[in-house]
Amino acid sequence: VSRTFQPDDTVIQTKHSIIGGQHFNLIAGPDAIESAEHVLAMGKAAKAAGATILRGGSYKPRTSPYSFQGLGEQGLVWHRAAADTLGMDMMTEIMSPADVELVGQYTDIFQVGTRNMQNFSLLKALGRQNKPVLLKRGMSATVDEFLSAAEYIASEGNQQIILMERGIRSFDQKYLRNTMDVSVIPVLQKLTHLPVLADPSHAAGVSDHVTPIGLAAVAAGAQGLMIEIHDQPAKAWVDGKQALTPDQMMTLFTKAKAIHEL
Ligand code: PEP
Repeated sequence: VSRTFQPDDTVIQTKHSIIGGQHFNLIAGPDAIESAEHVLAMGKAAKAAGATILRGGSYKPRTSPYSFQGLGEQGLVWHRAAADTLGMDMMTEIMSPADVELVGQYTDIFQVGTRNMQNFSLLKALGRQNKPVLLKRGMSATVDEFLSAAEYIASEGNQQIILMERGIRSFDQKYLRNTMDVSVIPVLQKLTHLPVLADPSHAAGVSDHVTPIGLAAVAAGAQGLMIEIHDQPAKAWVDGKQALTPDQMMTLFTKAKAIHEL
């Protein structure tokens, strides 16, 4: 995945998106798929704000085993239907190599979360798929560890890899869930030809701070943003504290596009 191997930016084409190079991508959707109606409504709002990729988790990596773990295949069915109705790409998280076949029957883009960045058997299995993989940075991963994780996917033959900074563990976690490492964005872009996007929702963990942190990532060169949205954040099944309302997302995306074009 090094620029010494391939100097030109990787550009990934899906049915509804072109990711990487000079392109700027917006991804939005609920944290977890909750119902057919909800994912469709959130997808409509996301599309209206310029997103081409509809995110949503049906297999959720929760800290506690007693927390809601996602709807599983039922969620995939509703998510796929919403993406098809709206003409958007579907992206969802995968946690186990055992799920690759099932999740691959539905999704357009596989998401590997921060906790699985070094799940090497998962990375290798995804390296044998012919679909893009969005790889999130481990919350304590160095740049070299992050790039080596991407290399696991590429070395199996799949070059369609999107990197995402989503905040790292820092020494003060009192006011923010993580710390958006904006500095890693230009560093990665110098080292690798892969697209580098940012997720300010998980970096901030608090909706008030998602917009400024997201705009900072775009100013640092992020080639896209992923945002979690909910029409009633207080009632979200997962991570409502960090969800933006559709109106807040619209404002953020409008400003982000303007910064990207500077
Ligand atoms: C997510 O995007 O739903 C998620 C769980 O993110 P992360 O892996 O960054 O915590």
